[in-house]
Amino acid sequence: MLKKLFQSIRSPLRRARGVRTTPEVLGSSQHPLHHEQISRNAVGVVDRLQRAGYQAYLVGGCVRDLLLGVEPKDFDVATSATPEQVRNEFRNARVIGRRFKLVHVHFGREIIEVATFRTNHPQGEDDEDSHLAARNESGRILRDNVYGSQEDDAQRRDFTINALYYDPASERILDYAHGMHDIRNRLVRLIGDPTQRYQEDPVRMLRAVRFAAKLGFDIEKHSAAPIRQLAHLLNDIPASRLFDEVLKLFLAGQGERTFDLLCEYGLFAPLFPASAAALKREPEYVGSLIRQALANTDERIRLGKPVTPAFLFAALLWPALPARAAALQASGMPAIPALQEAAHEVIGEQCRRTAIPKRFSLPLREIWDMQERLPRRQGRRADLLLENPRFRAGYDFLLLRESAGEETGDLGDWWTRYQEVSDSERRNMIRELSSSPDGAKAPRKRRRNPRKRAPTGQSQE
Ligand code: ATP
Ligand code: MG
Repeated sequence: MLKKLFQSIRSPLRRARGVRTTPEVLGSSQHPLHHEQISRNAVGVVDRLQRAGYQAYLVGGCVRDLLLGVEPKDFDVATSATPEQVRNEFRNARVIGRRFKLVHVHFGREIIEVATFRTNHPQGEDDEDSHLAARNESGRILRDNVYGSQEDDAQRRDFTINALYYDPASERILDYAHGMHDIRNRLVRLIGDPTQRYQEDPVRMLRAVRFAAKLGFDIEKHSAAPIRQLAHLLNDIPASRLFDEVLKLFLAGQGERTFDLLCEYGLFAPLFPASAAALKREPEYVGSLIRQALANTDERIRLGKPVTPAFLFAALLWPALPARAAALQASGMPAIPALQEAAHEVIGEQCRRTAIPKRFSLPLREIWDMQERLPRRQGRRADLLLENPRFRAGYDFLLLRESAGEETGDLGDWWTRYQEVSDSERRNMIRELSSSPDGAKAPRKRRRNPRKRAPTGQSQE
């Protein structure tokens, strides 16, 4: 009772710190947005909902990105209609999600996500509404389906720059949280009390970093301050959600910058514990391998080429292999099985953090196995490898390892040449292998300190 009274006294104060009760309204001449820049389907959804008598706006990333001259990834709509009411307005709509109910309106390949205005469910008040909203002991929101006003909706959003509402009909922007100010000053700022907002949903720490990297913004100092200390809260997040977040972090074109920020804020370790440990042991080699992989990925995205999470995870986890294999060998396991077992364990453990679906973990494993096979080229082996559908990824991975400083005896160059030359030249190259002092064996690793490098295929012979 007292608690409720206290909350009702406290809430207007809290509100005043977070969002305004009446928004600042910017007319069409006060901002650069035009409704022609917006997906016609998204405008159609808003229009339909407004005609049916509901409030409806474009919100979130699309408004933010358009204001910054960035092409939006998708278009999100916020409305006063409940998910069921939204579904009733569209033939092509499906209600999805449990933790956070949404409606997806489908137009061919485009999906417009429609969310009902929600309120931030205050801590300690979830007894009667536990089927709608719930938190765990650390304040993490488990369910969030209590609907509210537009002002409530602005308050529960993560960052001020994500809480701008655009009405394509009047071309007005409604700004409840000083988002325009932060867009101008290029700041990622949480709405409300940062520590509490991260406790409610620790993924917001990853989102802060993601938007800072994507937009080239700084994280505002009060929003940045608690991150290091709270980074461990990510351990409680379901592994499937973290996998999705990792893809958004690393496959959105700013992977290298994102990685640096994750490290700076102590967020890389909870996502990739074994890789973070390897990075600590050998900052130069591991940092260079991961950064190079991400820089290549960013470049491919810039050129519109496809990228695969399998290759990325292969690179992120590769540095964790040697220590694991060495430990297994120390306990008496022979080299090859130790490496196989290490691969199995590293992937298995990573899946408990970021559930990697089989369709990515299998090719990941093949890319690694290929590293063992690329040094063995005698007879028909080289030609058989070339025909392997995983050859290209395996070869690219070999080049990546070399660019990070791994010594492979110029194996990458050999394979580059082998792909370029004629058949008869290829026969010569294979013959030269047998006559070289190393014979058909993989080139010997020239390392002064064996612990300084990740394993290459030949180390398993
Ligand atoms: P992008 O689509 O470019 O990744 P976005 O800002 O649109 O960025 P979404 O994940 O599509 O991000 O979410 C849409 C909006 O929903 C956000 O802009 C934000 O207002 C709100 N939102 C999303 N996730 C959270 C969260 N974890 N906590 C609070 N608000 C959130
Ligand atoms: Mg979005």
